Amino acid sequence: MIWYPYTQMKTMPEPIEIIGAEGIYLHTKEGNLIDTTTSWWSVIHGYNNKEINEVLKNQVDQFAHVMLGGLTHKPVKDLTNKLISLLPGDLNHCFYSDSGSVAVEVAFKMAVQFFYNNGQSEKKSFVGLTHAYHGDTFKTMAVGDDEDYHLAFPEKDGVFHVNPNAEELKAVFEDHHQEIAAFIVEPLIQGAGGMRMYDVSFLEQARKLCDQYNVLLIFDEVATGFGRTGNMFVSDLVCPDIVVLGKALTAGYIGHAVTVANEKIFNGFYSDNPDHAFMHGPTFMGNPLACTVALKSIEIFEREDYMSKVKKIEAILKDEFKDFKSDKVCDIRILGGCLCLEVIDSSDLKGFKDYAIKNGIHSRPFINYIYGMFPYIIEEAELRNVCSVYKKWFDKK
Ligand SMILES: *Cc1c(COP(=O)(O)O)cnc(C)c1O
Repeated sequence: MIWYPYTQMKTMPEPIEIIGAEGIYLHTKEGNLIDTTTSWWSVIHGYNNKEINEVLKNQVDQFAHVMLGGLTHKPVKDLTNKLISLLPGDLNHCFYSDSGSVAVEVAFKMAVQFFYNNGQSEKKSFVGLTHAYHGDTFKTMAVGDDEDYHLAFPEKDGVFHVNPNAEELKAVFEDHHQEIAAFIVEPLIQGAGGMRMYDVSFLEQARKLCDQYNVLLIFDEVATGFGRTGNMFVSDLVCPDIVVLGKALTAGYIGHAVTVANEKIFNGFYSDNPDHAFMHGPTFMGNPLACTVALKSIEIFEREDYMSKVKKIEAILKDEFKDFKSDKVCDIRILGGCLCLEVIDSSDLKGFKDYAIKNGIHSRPFINYIYGMFPYIIEEAELRNVCSVYKKWFDKK
């Protein structure tokens, strides 16, 4: 049988079978549903984009995959040049992987070995934020702070957690900087931890503190990259030493991610000493199909001015919820293409998923949160419809 993610198989409701998908809609045997999850926040163009389908088919007919060990190809070279030109500062060195979790692991390994190569092998601890999510592999779980893992995987050796507060960060650096390699954050929006949002001023202060205490700054932009916060990358506002991109990178077509390092990090490995090389290499890194999709996705993103679409989504969301009040809802968070309604009591979301389906919407609420990570192509009327369904849920109760 299929073992489904994040669920108790014994009590799991029957999953919804998808028989097609087009634009913002998922097609089921019972009808079409507007997808507010963008399949874990990746499908920014909506489903079944004809232009992406076309380049993908062409690349399949040339070659679907070759390893990057000793070989290279045009899609990976072109994507690398494109990413370097898009990213700020000297974030110029792209290391590819097949998933966001692995790309975060790559960033961790880069940080530790950067200091090791420099004779500072004691710098191998990490600082993360409370409620952080960086993936499901062991180290990403340890540096993350997801309640779901605390019971079975409590191991947190060599990891410190702080709230997004400069004083707390400074205190940890002050006491432990000699052993800390890097501070990692999901910048501006902590996604899986509950769409928690904080101000950019914390990132500005964190940048200064990292420089002051010789700690590397890593931005996990797996979820926030490619416009989600209303910025192309949050790295455009505050420049990290390493940025990790995933999810929307390949527009929901093929799992892929990239860890991009600046000159300082890269130069820490670039030497006549073979032991200073970076020893990592996922089988499918730089997969030509994934790179081809990413290139076309970015081309459409720029040509169709997606940043203005995201701004418009944000403006509509703010307008829809400006006068909304419910004694069940304790917070409404809106940033870029992201909406989160937080309820005081999680039992108030019981039945919400089925209610949404009856109203033509696919939603995946979790714990105390209803969220929308909307596809950027959603039209105003469709988005207002989704918002009114959300609001009606609380009105009727
Ligand atoms: C989804 C996510 C990851 C993990 O990416 P996968 O491709 O699922 O391994 C890591 N960091 C953040 C911030 C994410 O949202």
